[in-house]
This record gives sequence, C-alpha cells and structure tokens, in this order.
Amino acid sequence: MTRDEQLERWLAGDLDGKKEAAHNDAGECCPDFACCNEGGAANAFDRQRFVDADDRTREGMLVGFLGAALEAHYGPGSVTTSADAHEEAANDEGEKWKR
Ligand SMILES: [Zn+2]
Repeated sequence: MTRDEQLERWLAGDLDGKKEAAHNDAGECCPDFACCNEGGAANAFDRQRFVDADDRTREGMLVGFLGAALEAHYGPGSVTTSADAHEEAANDEGEKWKR
C-alpha cells in the first residue's frame, strides 16, 4: 500500500496490531508504531492532527509517538529524550557549583 493509503487506514484505526501487513510500500511502520506495538497507540485526535500536519510538525510528532511506543514496551520513565538529557546535564552542572 502507498504511504497515503497507509495514513488513511491508520487514521481509521484499521492497522493497529497488524504487524508487517500494516507497513507501506517503503516498509515503514504506522506513524505511532501501533502496528508493531501493543501499547502506545495514538488517539483519534492525534492521528487526525498528524494527517493534517506539515512535514516539520509530523517529524516532531513521530519522535513523540516513538517515545510513547518505547515507554509502552519498556515501562514508564524508560525513555530519555534529548531535551530531558540536556536538562539533567544542566542540573548536574548546577549541583557542581553548589559544592
Ligand atoms: Zn510496524
């Protein structure tokens, strides 16, 4: 199926849990990876938002979906985004100065 067909069927919730059968011609997972993961599926609102978004916004949303899928698989708090890491590094730096 083409990427557009995949998006349309994903939007309808038709591809959740369908594994490889849900992948498009390029072999790509659905945007929220719900084809290959039991948890972490995006809700209807976010799916519609993704479909309506431009490429830049979609990229950001993909990172969020991936994080949610990983947390669903590995457990809450298991995923550190680069923004989190940056903040932690900044906090560590702050701690050093206090000592
Ligand atoms: Zn998949």
